[in-house]
Amino acid sequence: MTFGFSKQRRRQQLKAKPFPAAWRLILIRNVPIFGRLPPPDQIDLLGHIQIFLAEKHFEACGGLELTDEIRLTIAAQACLLLLHRKTDYYPQLASILVYPSSYTAHEKRHLGANIWEEGDEHRLGHTGRRLGSLVLAWDDARRGAANPSDGRNLVLHEFAHQLDFEDYATDGAPALATKAEYQSWARVMSREFAALRSAAETGIPTVLDIYGAENPAEFFAVVTEAFFERPRALRAKHPELYAEFARFFRQDPIQYSAEPGRRTLNKG
Ligand SMILES: [Zn+2]
Repeated sequence: MTFGFSKQRRRQQLKAKPFPAAWRLILIRNVPIFGRLPPPDQIDLLGHIQIFLAEKHFEACGGLELTDEIRLTIAAQACLLLLHRKTDYYPQLASILVYPSSYTAHEKRHLGANIWEEGDEHRLGHTGRRLGSLVLAWDDARRGAANPSDGRNLVLHEFAHQLDFEDYATDGAPALATKAEYQSWARVMSREFAALRSAAETGIPTVLDIYGAENPAEFFAVVTEAFFERPRALRAKHPELYAEFARFFRQDPIQYSAEPGRRTLNKG
């Protein structure tokens, strides 16, 4: 009988469960950022992973066989976005569908006014506000974890979209605490989004993937990738953007990132 058994209590129990040693080995092997986190964050991350794995349904598609390696590699990256924040564990997301590699989606896309485009598109990942699911290509999810400082990370990207949905709008703004935070966020994001759009048009190289110039929702997802994977470069080139993301995520990835930094001189 689970009546009256609160969600919070169940989550506390999941968090307290011992983390299997074999699972920890998978994290060390597949998710190098895990080993770089400060020890208290590592413990928090393991707790979040236990809850995430218990609450989300994973489904392997396209002939892929679901393994602990797949579930853990994805869960660890998704839960990195939850550290230090009050979270309800991606409440609008029920299941994660994993394909072996990029998959073909048949879709109808609204291009404007009465214009629709229909066709097959090769995709690495996808999620939507009303879908309740998130789709990932396993080869890219694994590669994204293995290269923690190339600025590209499929899992962080797709789960950033889920955070964007938490305030019930797909607008490039996650749920923020105060009106002042929303105002500051909107001011910085609209200026930086405009700057990326003009960089995309003129071909000026930028820390941010120009895919983020597509719309504000993609911009938020692309900046999230850069924030965790290239934090030094992001802070150097876009300090206000970095500050907004550091305040929202309550993290300073420069402290643990694998991004090569300026070397300190050896004392002789
Ligand atoms: Zn996207």
